[in-house]
Amino acid sequence: MKTKRVAFFLLASLLLSLGASAQRPDAGTQVVDSIEAQHQAYADVALQIWKFAETGYQEVKSSALLEARLAAAGFSVQKGVADIPTAFVASYGSGKPIIAFIGEYDALPGLSQEAVPERKPVMTGAPGHGCGHNLLGTAAMAAAVAVKDWLASDHRQGTVRYYGTPAEEGGEGKIYMVRAGLFRDVDVAVSWHPGDSNQASTGSNLANISAKFRFHGIAAHAAAAPDKGRSALDAVEAMDMMVNLMREHVPQETRIHYIISNGGAAPNVVPDFAEAYYIARHPDMQVLDGIWQRITDAAKGAALGTSTTMDMEILGGDYNVLPNSHLSGLQNKNLQRLGGLKYTNEERAFAEALQKTMLGPVRPLGSEEKIQPQSSSITPASTDLGDVSWNVPTVGLTTATWVPGTSAHTWQATACGGMTIGIKGMMLAAKTMALTGVDLFSDPSNIQKARAEFEQRKGNVTYKPVIGDRKPPLDYRKQ
Ligand SMILES: [Zn+2]
Ligand SMILES: [Zn+2]
Repeated sequence: MKTKRVAFFLLASLLLSLGASAQRPDAGTQVVDSIEAQHQAYADVALQIWKFAETGYQEVKSSALLEARLAAAGFSVQKGVADIPTAFVASYGSGKPIIAFIGEYDALPGLSQEAVPERKPVMTGAPGHGCGHNLLGTAAMAAAVAVKDWLASDHRQGTVRYYGTPAEEGGEGKIYMVRAGLFRDVDVAVSWHPGDSNQASTGSNLANISAKFRFHGIAAHAAAAPDKGRSALDAVEAMDMMVNLMREHVPQETRIHYIISNGGAAPNVVPDFAEAYYIARHPDMQVLDGIWQRITDAAKGAALGTSTTMDMEILGGDYNVLPNSHLSGLQNKNLQRLGGLKYTNEERAFAEALQKTMLGPVRPLGSEEKIQPQSSSITPASTDLGDVSWNVPTVGLTTATWVPGTSAHTWQATACGGMTIGIKGMMLAAKTMALTGVDLFSDPSNIQKARAEFEQRKGNVTYKPVIGDRKPPLDYRKQ
């Protein structure tokens, strides 16, 4: 009788514990399932932002939609931060650690496109989501909400934040938010970007600095009194000449681009005003600083040699991304756990048709099903996430939101971001980032390791935003 009772008790407790574990899956499964349960809702948000297609600092409807969803999910939302109406920070919880998910939502001019595999703008010349930021902002929100729900159900301490960062495409919203101190107390920033493959990265990209060099001379009749004139255009040409000679004497990876944005008003008037617009890039901001000093010296020399005067206006500058191998390892592990994407027959037909519009060679179809090995390459582009990464340990990721072979900033990218292929990639990114969030909250050693690596990579560099005290260029897309 006694043995029987013990056996019954053991069986009952076994059943109970099985029942309990069935009700309480592990944290990772919990966040992944909660995101999947909202698949349609998140797809709707991403497609709405895709239709809004608002450019930098004009993202009024896009930011309002994300703010409303985050508020409804229990976040407190601080709108219009850093003197930018479409920038916001949504926060849940209290105390440390503070984990940030980074969202973007600006579109690009001229890339309006229907979700079809041939060139067909919704409206010719209108903006479109050719960089997939409709997916970027939505996936980061999905990850933040899932991690918040798990923290709440587990009664854990810590803070989840969503950073609504506008105008990534040339407006550098994040840099103004960093300058305003909004990232000061963050432990780790988790981000991602749409792409044509699934990959975590330990690589970096290019720092850049852009400015306008304005030369002031003296106007005169170009034939009757040229000796009375001093040509500002001569100064621009002298500067360009010196910088072009400099190209041989800078590190290989340097990129220097310019246009003559003002070359005078008429050939028969000695130009009293001329302007050159420069962008320089290098994988290391410290090296770029030195190159930029030499470009500025060329401008000063050009002014001296042509008896003109010069002033320079810095328009922007992004730091190169400071990678973090420990954090990237977490993203990679989580991406491997989830696996790649599977196309339906219709999606495969769309992908085949879209690939025919691309100049080859392109990444093969089927690669979207795989997880690529972690990359350590330098991407020849710049982003304002770089400035975040010099202040807070930061991690990125790409998923195949675009048909393999698709480049960013193309109508093909806009097309994919407005249909199920883009949404599938977005969901994979959201789940991967949520799993990384769980890793960071549940094991503090991850944050300590990320911080130690951050300090070691940063060395004795003191971060100083290139923009100085410049105000956010809220009208840069209005011209
Ligand atoms: Zn872009
Ligand atoms: Zn982008």
